[in-house]
Amino acid sequence: MDRPLNIANEAEMLAFGSKLAATLCPNLTIYLIGDLGSGKTTLVRGILHGLGYKGVVKSPTYNLVEIYKISRLYLYHFDFYRFNDPIEWEEAGFRDYFNCDSVCLVEWPEKANGLLPTADLQITIDIPESGREINVHAGTEAGKKCLTHW
Ligand code: ADP
Ligand code: MG
Repeated sequence: MDRPLNIANEAEMLAFGSKLAATLCPNLTIYLIGDLGSGKTTLVRGILHGLGYKGVVKSPTYNLVEIYKISRLYLYHFDFYRFNDPIEWEEAGFRDYFNCDSVCLVEWPEKANGLLPTADLQITIDIPESGREINVHAGTEAGKKCLTHW
């Protein structure tokens, strides 16, 4: 997507997530970049609602990952804000979470530098004077393919 999207409020962020959900297929890694409170978790909530998930979507800040299974798709929602020990990555078996049956949504990928696969999509959320500004960048062919369904 070449142009930034303006997202006026939380409801619009949820709607954007829902729309994005329709373009997703398994075997994707999506980085979510933005400050605390920019709306990364809200976006994930919109994606999960778009996929038909009816339960509560909580922030994985304390346990690093929340796991969802929707039909045959595994969705892993990571938040690496509090991550600082690469040994934890191996011990938790996170490497295996990035596989051909899963979509991995990663908040604070910067904190797990060098451990994560390349982002198929990188979604950056900025906070202008009002609302939010979103930029979506495809880093791989799989990511580009998602955006062609936009
Ligand atoms: P993060 O996961 O990036 O720390 P959250 O999604 O947990 O952020 O929180 C975002 C907060 O910002 C929520 O309280 C939400 O209501 C508020 N908010 C205000 N405007 C927007 C917007 N345009 N999009 C998303 N969230 C917004
Ligand atoms: Mg969050």
